[in-house]
Amino acid sequence: MDPVIIGPLIALGFIGLLVAYRVVVAASKKAPTESKAKLMVHAINDERCTGCDACVLVCPTAVLELKNNKSKVIRFDDCIQCEQCAVVCPTTALVMFREGTEPPPVLVPDLDDYYQSKVPGLYLLGEAAGKPLVKNAVNLGRAAVEHSLRTNMRPGALGPQAKPDLTCVDVVIVGSGPAGLSAAMACQQRKLSYVVLEKDAFVASTIARYPKGKYVMAEPYDVRCVGLLPVYDSPKDKLILDWNRVLTQVGLDIRLREVVEKIERQPAGTFAVRSDKGKYLAQKVMLCIGTRGKPRRLNVPGEDQAMVQPLLDDPDLYTGKTLLVIGGGDSAVEAALSLATQTLRNKVIISYRGKAFNRVKAKNRQAIDLAIAEKRILVLFGSNVKQFGDGNVVLKLAEGRERSIPIQGAFVLIGGDPPIKWLEDMGIGYVPKPHSFVRPPTDLLVERLIGRQPSNDKPNLPVSEELSGFFDHAALASPRKEATIMVPKDQFLLHLPEKLQLAPEAQKVSQIRHQ
Ligand SMILES: Cc1cc2nc3c(=O)[nH]c(=O)nc-3n(C[C@H](O)[C@H](O)[C@H](O)COP(=O)(O)OP(=O)(O)OC[C@H]3O[C@@H](n4cnc5c(N)ncnc54)[C@H](O)[C@@H]3O)c2cc1C
Ligand code: SF4
Ligand code: SF4
Repeated sequence: MDPVIIGPLIALGFIGLLVAYRVVVAASKKAPTESKAKLMVHAINDERCTGCDACVLVCPTAVLELKNNKSKVIRFDDCIQCEQCAVVCPTTALVMFREGTEPPPVLVPDLDDYYQSKVPGLYLLGEAAGKPLVKNAVNLGRAAVEHSLRTNMRPGALGPQAKPDLTCVDVVIVGSGPAGLSAAMACQQRKLSYVVLEKDAFVASTIARYPKGKYVMAEPYDVRCVGLLPVYDSPKDKLILDWNRVLTQVGLDIRLREVVEKIERQPAGTFAVRSDKGKYLAQKVMLCIGTRGKPRRLNVPGEDQAMVQPLLDDPDLYTGKTLLVIGGGDSAVEAALSLATQTLRNKVIISYRGKAFNRVKAKNRQAIDLAIAEKRILVLFGSNVKQFGDGNVVLKLAEGRERSIPIQGAFVLIGGDPPIKWLEDMGIGYVPKPHSFVRPPTDLLVERLIGRQPSNDKPNLPVSEELSGFFDHAALASPRKEATIMVPKDQFLLHLPEKLQLAPEAQKVSQIRHQ
């Protein structure tokens, strides 16, 4: 071919190749953008974020950090899309959704403005009600008692104990977190009979179990604490100590280590409450159970004896003992590690039905591998507990044979069942709401309710009728004003922090902290 023609042809071919190359490169550059459009991204509702740190700790690539006690996405490029952060978030503050779409709706309990469920007289308060944070829980405890006085509460109507095995009270309070304690104090103030049933061995166990040194932030800072239990910024140990002093002074009826198992509304409108220790009859029930759920049980013989615990409170209480930890998740591994330190000199055995610790965090995996190598912990993979005896446990080992091992304590750490199913069985429904859903401020709710004395001449009016015009929805949205706690000074507790000579920060109760 004529070189005069070949030359331009080659040049054209070259240009064509170049263009094709550019198209391929451009397309390949575009690909990540397209695939990025399909990425799962985070939505975090600050109102529901408690700063519990669970999402931060579970993230394998340190994408999240707490800033001002709220979870924030700091290094999204490192996100491996595992969604564990959303799974562990106890308050649905953090959800993940496809970029370019809307965050998914969240299921919230179907409650009226006063946190009463569709079952009249059954209240759900605090974090379980979708209104987390300590101060909110305290405010709601008081609000529910005040509201119950305005519905068909007839103090003392059930009389004293009807039968020897039945305790009759005006109010049964389930849980001794801030919501339950505050409700109990409000009952005491209003001279209602009540009992607090707490499954744990101590009060406010959610807060008491925060990690060592955790600071309790008295959020939300634009909401006043108008409940009767003081709330202020404080290291958790100090807050719990101060609360215990308050509770001792006030003398609340709290029954520890008592798990409420069943609540049924009777045809007469009262509630039959059954715990693992007794039976109660009440006019109102206030569920202040938080979101940690019921620890799962093994359901094997001997599990009810004292040496078998559903939680590990304080590892320092165990020294020189042979202890069994059952489970294969982070809480089991962390408990075993805390019991197996050289100073405590315990012999720690883990019984886990799985074949490996596949679900635990990387740092726990490293620590447990080291403890196994150093013979501080013995792990029996593929084993199952058959029964607990008097000072021993019978395990079915992976190879099928059974073996009895002498032990002095056992911790069943196999996770918990979220309370949703339990609540649904009681008649508490759940409704979908946008992820941004926020319930109105809790201080205003209390102030509306305590702004008027209970009306004894109208005891049975339905809420809407009795409170129409009283509970002002528009006011909830209006700018906030300073307000004082409306408890008559001579009545109860207003000066409690001073009386108890609490630290100066305790006296900030009911003050607004402006940021
Ligand atoms: C690590 C961590 C850090 C946090 N930091 C903060 C913070 O800085 N500031 C803040 O405001 N909030 C914080 N929160 C959130 C705050 O602790 C909760 O929102 C608050 O405790 C909710 O109070 P509550 O009374 O609704 O429930 P909880 O405090 O959870 O109390 C529920 C109680 O009910 C008991 N119970 C449950 N079921 C039963 C049953 N069937 N029978 C008997 N008893 C039962 C439980 O044992 C528990 O004692 C944090 C939470 C965590 C986990
Ligand atoms: S999806 Fe996984 S990697 Fe991404 S932020 Fe959540 S926990 Fe971390
Ligand atoms: S797990 Fe949920 S509540 Fe806890 S810090 Fe993360 S987003 Fe907030």
